[in-house]
Order: sequence, then C-alpha cells, then structure tokens
Amino acid sequence: MNENPSANRSWMCLICGFIYEESKGMPDEGIAPGTSWEDVPMNWACPECGARKDDFEMVAL
Ligand SMILES: [Zn+2]
Repeated sequence: MNENPSANRSWMCLICGFIYEESKGMPDEGIAPGTSWEDVPMNWACPECGARKDDFEMVAL
C-alpha cells in the first residue's frame, strides 16, 4: 500500500453511509484531526450504527 500522509482520504461505512475524513478526525470519539485510518483503533466502531472498521471502504470525495 502506498502511504501518502498528505492525502485526504475518506472512509465510508457500508452499513449506514457515515463518512470518516482523515483530515477532520473524530474529536468527539477521541480521534484527533489528521489521524490516518490505519491509526484508528481496531475496536473503534461507527458512531451511527456500531459497524466495525471492516465494514468501511475508502472513498474519493
Ligand atoms: Zn455506520
């Protein structure tokens, strides 16, 4: 996998459509802005539906 720290990647929950943007992070969940998807804890779950990271897919916005 080609990692590009400057890339603004987004990940979408395949269950409910919730979008996680790396540039914004998820401060309410304790995830700082700029946190790459790989650094999001494995036990993190979608705040909307509870889906796990496995249920997210990278999207280009
Ligand atoms: Zn979800």
